[in-house]
Amino acid sequence: MKALVLEDVQKAVVKDVPAPEIDHDGILIKTMANGVCRSDWHVWVGDHGIVQPIIGHEFCGVVEEVGHNVKNFKRGDRVIIPFSGSDGTCPHCIAGNTHLCDSFIVPGTAYQGGYGEYVAVPKGDRNAIHLPENLSFSDAAALGCRFMTAYHGVVDRVHVLPGENVVVYGCGGIGLSAIHIASSMGANVIGVDINDSNIELAKKLGADYTINSMNNDPVEAVKELTKGGADVSVDALGITETCLNGINSLKKGGRHLQVGVTSKKEAGFISIPVDDMVLNEKSFITTLGIPAYRFSSLLEQVAQDKLQPGKMVTRNIKLSEVEGIFEDMSNFKTTGTFVVTDYS
Ligand SMILES: [Zn+2]
Ligand SMILES: [Zn+2]
Repeated sequence: MKALVLEDVQKAVVKDVPAPEIDHDGILIKTMANGVCRSDWHVWVGDHGIVQPIIGHEFCGVVEEVGHNVKNFKRGDRVIIPFSGSDGTCPHCIAGNTHLCDSFIVPGTAYQGGYGEYVAVPKGDRNAIHLPENLSFSDAAALGCRFMTAYHGVVDRVHVLPGENVVVYGCGGIGLSAIHIASSMGANVIGVDINDSNIELAKKLGADYTINSMNNDPVEAVKELTKGGADVSVDALGITETCLNGINSLKKGGRHLQVGVTSKKEAGFISIPVDDMVLNEKSFITTLGIPAYRFSSLLEQVAQDKLQPGKMVTRNIKLSEVEGIFEDMSNFKTTGTFVVTDYS
């Protein structure tokens, strides 16, 4: 099969490799679409070690073959693989929090991912989900990562309410998803970015106001727009500036949602204004993936067209174009999301 193989840091090569094989519980998927995610960029750039030569965790496709223990799927089924895969045996899985599974079976890390023409998904019955017929593979690809992460964060973790002011820092894939979801829930949404094309896309996805933080102090602007501060802030990027701007944009009692993980520069650590947060009772809340049982509520809203993840897709690309996208991501030059649909 054709695959994009990470041979080293910042060296991804398209080549022919053997297709992966399934065990009795596995499902072999012919990949139809895989979204290019900033998490992939983190691996490519060397922020995390290269565990699998074939990464990619935002994919969907058609079932090619199933192991003989698999009950829920058959050859020809359309499926999506949410990145927060699980084993079903640990205490978190048993409690229903499959996204916190101790084994955390993430495609592209635990097994070869969606930058290959075929993917062998382990424990297929629990780690694949049927894709509604009316959803295209290209539109669906990002659902299994950025979109579901934003959904769990905005809906389940900070519980955004209609009429609340929500500011989203970083209008890349996660940020645009958060804007779209918060807006669909009736919140007043402010999108902040340094790139005008991202800002245009934020408007298209439902942002009521946008701020280019290159030209304005975003915290001041948010306070003015919201007459005192936002109810909810979202850091969709994970750098010191967006995290702090998020916290500082909140009114008393506000909730900060941290979605982005840090880059090499922060190496996991950002100093936050603890005293201000205590004295103003600001919360710092994190989010990761989505529990499997919540994915169907998201899919339902997409199938009913209440949420339209396809609006974020800038272009469908070939496998050979991925490294160029990573290079653009290094300079924050990308807009929207790119989805590999051509594996030739
Ligand atoms: Zn992703
Ligand atoms: Zn588990």
